[in-house]
Amino acid sequence: MPISPEQQAEIDEQRSSPQPTLRAVSEGMESHLYTAYPVLDHGFIRVIDYMGNDEAICQAARVSYGKGTKSVQNDEGLIRYLMRHWHSTPFEMCEIKLHVKLPVFVARQWIRHRTANVNEYSARYSILDREFYIPEPSHINAQSVINNQGRGGVLEGAEAARVLEILKSDSNRAYDNYEAMIAETGPDGEPQDGLARELARMNLPANIYTQWYWKVDLHNLFHFLRLRADSHAQYEIRVYADAICKVVADWVPAAYGAFEDYRLGGATMSGKALDCVRRMLKGEEVTQETSGMSKGEWREFEGAIK
Ligand SMILES: Cc1cc2nc3c(=O)[nH]c(=O)nc-3n(C[C@H](O)[C@H](O)[C@H](O)COP(=O)(O)OP(=O)(O)OC[C@H]3O[C@@H](n4cnc5c(N)ncnc54)[C@H](O)[C@@H]3O)c2cc1C
Repeated sequence: MPISPEQQAEIDEQRSSPQPTLRAVSEGMESHLYTAYPVLDHGFIRVIDYMGNDEAICQAARVSYGKGTKSVQNDEGLIRYLMRHWHSTPFEMCEIKLHVKLPVFVARQWIRHRTANVNEYSARYSILDREFYIPEPSHINAQSVINNQGRGGVLEGAEAARVLEILKSDSNRAYDNYEAMIAETGPDGEPQDGLARELARMNLPANIYTQWYWKVDLHNLFHFLRLRADSHAQYEIRVYADAICKVVADWVPAAYGAFEDYRLGGATMSGKALDCVRRMLKGEEVTQETSGMSKGEWREFEGAIK
């Protein structure tokens, strides 16, 4: 269970005491504040705080004294222009702070995004919960034969059952030993010192859950989302990125719309690829062999235009 009844009560209490403010507010984001959205079997994302909205992006771009807004249509046009031309600093004026609960192996991918501020739950100080990511059977796949960095078809039958059983029993055994090592009573019922938490944790597998607060500006968040909401990203991090996308779409609808169009839905083309498009438009039949592109590049090019 991602959130206990006590934690939910704390969230409800926080949501029940609005305060007046002169700051820029996003109505869409206000409806998400503090709410935990479940991801995977024990994880979640929830917005702790945010700064700015679509208007704040325009205000910064125009270096304005007031709200910076001309009209909603004007603002949307400006935001699309900024996104199209990689004029990124106005997007950095908006920030989001998330509380994320995620498996350690997902955290290892996530932490590579260095342009964020992170504070992680301390397993030196606190005892970790017995919470391990165990994939749904539909997400237990074979190694991909096309992409060394991906997965292929879903495992079935006895093999799938065996894998699930190994994941569950290894996780539980490791946690039993973690508890036994930090306990103040030994297996014989006699008192023992108990191993330091900072050492006992080294025996825990990478599917155990950790938590952190993660603060990032909108420009770098879009960079994260472009890489991690992509169909090539690992499923287990992609579902977090997808959940964040939903929140961002309500927070800054115009900026998210531009991001969705130019980045998520768009494609960057090399000089060779553009040349092929021009030749195709003139009626020439271009193939991989005549394109000047490698097989991999050609496959991606076809994927983008077909
Ligand atoms: C599909 C996929 C597969 C991957 N596979 C691997 C892998 O096999 N092995 C592996 O190690 N990683 C892998 N990565 C991680 C990847 O290499 C990046 O580390 C990660 O995506 C973070 O990207 P970033 O550095 O652009 O982001 P951020 O760290 O958020 O940086 C954003 C931008 O800021 C700039 N920047 C930040 N820090 C510096 C710096 N110190 N110097 C110069 N510029 C900086 C860069 O322009 C950068 O693009 C993979 C990522 C993806 C999406």
